Amino acid sequence: MENETLFTKIRDGEIPSKKLYQDELCFSILDINPINKGHALVISAKPYKNIGECPEETLCHMITIAKRIESRMRDALKCNGSNIIINNDPASGQEVPHLHIHVVPRYSGDGKTVVSRKESYADGEMDKMQETLKI
Ligand code: AMP
Repeated sequence: MENETLFTKIRDGEIPSKKLYQDELCFSILDINPINKGHALVISAKPYKNIGECPEETLCHMITIAKRIESRMRDALKCNGSNIIINNDPASGQEVPHLHIHVVPRYSGDGKTVVSRKESYADGEMDKMQETLKI
């Protein structure tokens, strides 16, 4: 049986939402607590917990829908930037364990932040990391 999540209940209309899009692979809603108004979520129809569980075909489709929503935001909200974010698992800050892409409209000087303070590499460390992460 399917794992029930907040987003499966929203998908099925058991919890109200403001839907922007729906098909057999994913759906999109307005985030209830937006970073900026219009902040949308593109959510997998099936409750994959994270990007690793999601088939590539579904993920590619979700990104395509995120791109379309971002384009609508630029036209309709006149935003001049966006953040496209996936939080994977609680360590990253994921609160709802059901794969979703945040699409956040951004405006020059809006004062919002979605990225942390950055680190730097010690000598040679970046070369090692390159070897570790090459695919
Ligand atoms: P994350 O922290 O990546 O798991 O993001 C979960 C997002 O779901 C947050 O930005 C919440 O504001 C949003 N959220 C939680 N409950 C609802 C809801 N009922 N309707 C719409 N968005 C929601």
